[in-house]
Order: sequence, then structure tokens, then C-alpha cells
Amino acid sequence: MPETILVVEDEPSLQETLAYNLKKEGYTVEAVGDGMVALESARRLKPDLIVLDLMLPGIDGFEVCRILRKEMNTPVLMLTARDDEIDRVVGLEVGADDYLTKPFSMRELMARVKAQLRRARLIREELWKLSAETPQEKISFDNLVINQTRREVILNEGPLKLKPKEYELLLFLAEHRGQMLSRGFILERVWGWDYIGDSRTVDVHVRWLRQKIEADPGKPERIITVRGGGYRFEG
Ligand code: CA
Repeated sequence: MPETILVVEDEPSLQETLAYNLKKEGYTVEAVGDGMVALESARRLKPDLIVLDLMLPGIDGFEVCRILRKEMNTPVLMLTARDDEIDRVVGLEVGADDYLTKPFSMRELMARVKAQLRRARLIREELWKLSAETPQEKISFDNLVINQTRREVILNEGPLKLKPKEYELLLFLAEHRGQMLSRGFILERVWGWDYIGDSRTVDVHVRWLRQKIEADPGKPERIITVRGGGYRFEG
């Protein structure tokens, strides 16, 4: 299957040139010229790579990249017109995987595109091998994978750092997907009979987990609070 590239560039002639050249190389290309539209396209398309111009109408490339980083691990190749923005582009602040300063040649762009796609492919294969080792020990929910053998949780193709009790709580919730679990029951099963504490411990850990696994911790879609009851894991 051809790899899919989302091109975000507001300058019509450059957008056209980029799309044309990438298609010629055999990629499936969708091109947009606006930051908000780019977010929608990325979520729908789940592209293999995003070529993202920095200066865009609406929300700029910085903001687009920052938002997407929380949702997916798709490599981002940033296009910038100014050298002095490069530190921000590749730094932790935004987290683009690579950048090109305008003007650039199509040959240069193509080399960067191929390098990023190759890297992403290697990571995918590596993760696939890991998960293939112990299929029965793996619980997956879309972009969230719990590997019990390794006590490892993968979110958006990257490992997630969890404290031991966060991991045990997540695993317990995941094993009872779709069931309403009371705080008392969770406390008893995850922390044990002899645990000295109260059900607020559960709430605190759920809050920490949500910050790590929910796209928007303020509007959780994975760990749902059941009014007057406890929690339900939706997957
Ligand atoms: Ca621009």
C-alpha cells in the first residue's frame, strides 16, 4: 500500500509543486492550506508523514505540531522560512522530527521525506516484533497496547512511563473493559485487602492515568466516571 503524506502549505504554487512531486514518487498525497483543516485531515487520514509549513493562516505550524504530538506519533517535517525559528521547531517545545528552510530543492525534500518514512517503518516493525513475541500477553485498544510480559504500555507507538500502581490499575481496568467497577472493589483488587487508605487513592491514580492516556484528560473517553459508582474502562 502506498504511504500517505499530508502536505500543509498555504502558498498555492508551492503546495501544488509539493503534491505533484510526492505523487510522482508514488505516495498518496492530500494537500491543505490551513492549520485547522490540517488537524482534521491528520485525524481522519492518519498519514505516514506530515509536511508542515510553519507560517499558516488560522493556527500556525507550531500549534498544529504541538496538538498532533499529543495524539499521534506521525513524523513531522517542518518547512520554515526563517533560520532563527529552527531551535523552536526541532526543540522539545514543538517536537518536529526534521525541518527544511525555504527555499529548498525537491531533491532535498524527497531525501528528507524518505528518511523519515524509513525511520517510522523501522519503529513500526520493531514494535510489531515485540508484540508478536507474546500475542496472548497483549491487550490492545486502538492506539493503546498493554504488554503484560514486559509490564509495558505503548501509546501512539511510543512507550508510556507509568508508576507500578498506575500500571496495575490500568491493567485491572482493561481486563474488565465495559464493566462498572466500584472504588471499593478496585481498591481491594489493585491495592489488596490489607491496604490502609481510602477510595480517594483510586481517584488520584485514575486522575494520573487519565493525564497519561487520555487525549483530553478533562473529557476522558477511556476511563469513564460512573456517577455514584466508580469507573468504567471503555478501551
Ligand atoms: Ca506559509
